[in-house]
Amino acid sequence: MLRTHTCGELRLADVNKEVTLAGWVQRVRNKGGLIWLDLRDRYGVTQLIFEEGSTDKALLEKAGSLGREFVVQATGVVIERTSKNDKLPTGDIEIKASALEVLNAAKVPPFIIEDETDGGDELRMKYRYLDLRRNVVREKLQLRHRMMQETRKYMDAQSFIEVETPVLIKSTPEGARDFVVPSRVNPGEFYALPQSPQTFKQLLMVSGFDRYFQIVKCFRDEDLRADRQPEFTQIDCEMSFVDQEDILNTFEGLVRHLFTHVKGVDLGGVERMTFADAMKYYGNDKPDLRFDMKFVELNELAQGKGFTIFDQAELIVGICATGAGEYTRKQIEALTDWVKRPQIGAKGLVYVKCNEDGTFKSSVDKFYTQEDLKAWAEKANAKAGDLILVLSGDAKTTRKQMSELRLKMGEDLGLRDRNVFRPLWVVDFPLLEWDEETQRYHAMHHPFTSPKKEDIPLLEIDPGAVRANAYDLVINGVEIGGGSIRIHDRPTQQLMFKHLGFSDEEAQKQFGFLMEAFEYGAPPHGGIAFGFDRFCAIFGGSDSIRDYIAFPKNNSGRDVMIDSPSTIAEEQLKELSIALALKKE
Ligand code: ASP
Repeated sequence: MLRTHTCGELRLADVNKEVTLAGWVQRVRNKGGLIWLDLRDRYGVTQLIFEEGSTDKALLEKAGSLGREFVVQATGVVIERTSKNDKLPTGDIEIKASALEVLNAAKVPPFIIEDETDGGDELRMKYRYLDLRRNVVREKLQLRHRMMQETRKYMDAQSFIEVETPVLIKSTPEGARDFVVPSRVNPGEFYALPQSPQTFKQLLMVSGFDRYFQIVKCFRDEDLRADRQPEFTQIDCEMSFVDQEDILNTFEGLVRHLFTHVKGVDLGGVERMTFADAMKYYGNDKPDLRFDMKFVELNELAQGKGFTIFDQAELIVGICATGAGEYTRKQIEALTDWVKRPQIGAKGLVYVKCNEDGTFKSSVDKFYTQEDLKAWAEKANAKAGDLILVLSGDAKTTRKQMSELRLKMGEDLGLRDRNVFRPLWVVDFPLLEWDEETQRYHAMHHPFTSPKKEDIPLLEIDPGAVRANAYDLVINGVEIGGGSIRIHDRPTQQLMFKHLGFSDEEAQKQFGFLMEAFEYGAPPHGGIAFGFDRFCAIFGGSDSIRDYIAFPKNNSGRDVMIDSPSTIAEEQLKELSIALALKKE
């Protein structure tokens, strides 16, 4: 080893020991005859001291010539510091250096490699390997590491077997576009990268593996956002001979294990809510339950009083913002402008202030008496000092708009505390979802999800009303995982494909292998997959999954460090039997 200790471990108890450290020069303070040097590695920072008189001149000069991020090895004796630094675990000691070797020089780094940096996003991504030297960045990946280790520990203890599935496969229907890879030896043919290992894990159940998991890369060619990357990681799981209840319990166990062992948080119970209730009360299939503001429907109370906008609305829905009764006219105007932005698209916002003296002040005073407004307040559970906000219109759109407003109010009122965790199972998702664009039904989860037995007759008469044995795990308004109990027989799977608009030939071509497998004794099975990067981000209290990925891509799907994607040589294209005919936009 080039060192006897790391830069994070020496303490007062080590005084008088001769040690050798190796690391990066974080900072040099040169006071002429006296030089302090902060040496950094993954484990911490240790101060070295070079002093005229006790240090020989050549050594002093060498120390003075070091630049930031030089890689050095230093030997010396641990001494007690005269002025201690209680912010540093090694702050009680320093090393009186007697030898110094430069292991590698460094160019001046393009940004400061400390917790607070002057580097912008793009620059730090271009030099991600330098960014990763920073504690705050590395710690996020260490959190990821812990989550991975604890996941494996829990899954192994529950008898799950980790199995790797192939990356060069064919299309998997998770609702995104595939990334494709041309096959050189099969000209004109392409592999698809897995959007998930869905079909493989089901086949492993047919193989009798009983319990499978994998921490696995998945690939989806979608438009990118803060919580989306073209390649991301799942904790992918599947179990045989189980029903929905078994899956929810097993994976509640995983989530609880991670919270306890990685975060030291006792999660308590995981609530459950049907999809229908989530939409009715929160306008969202992933409600943030850290705060209340449950929707109240005001149709009965607010219609028939001469206010045409409400009278014509399919839905009038309100939320009670506790303690926001003090909002000024300006603040309410700002909220109104906010909901009217094209991204939200509301036509207007009605408010009712519940005054301290028991009276009400609203933007629709012309149409409603104090008694009327009192009835609204009672329904919304609003007290003096609260503010009721009301939107109206067609039900689906209004719920969506109110969901956005609810989240904004939660944010503005400081109710979305990153240190509070409110997990929730959303259950009974619809099996199918109508797609306006293609004018047909799509699988809401994926086509292998089983319908609820009692709803199967509805498939012919009201497909949109069929519920699935599908569930999502939501934490703080973020979808962390989702899965379902699967179809495990050929006729039902075939029926499902038919309802999704596949011809028999298409279904056979794409998923014949799976349907055939179902004819060889497929056990009842079901599973779930967790978005691992998002899970890490929730644990770390961040909105961006990028921070938890060592080498992420930017918003255009580019890795600016290795400069990819990039063109390939003519020769390579020829080998792949591909001729490019790029369309000009
Ligand atoms: N394959 C699904 C997904 O990626 C998860 C599952 O159904 O287990 O969302």
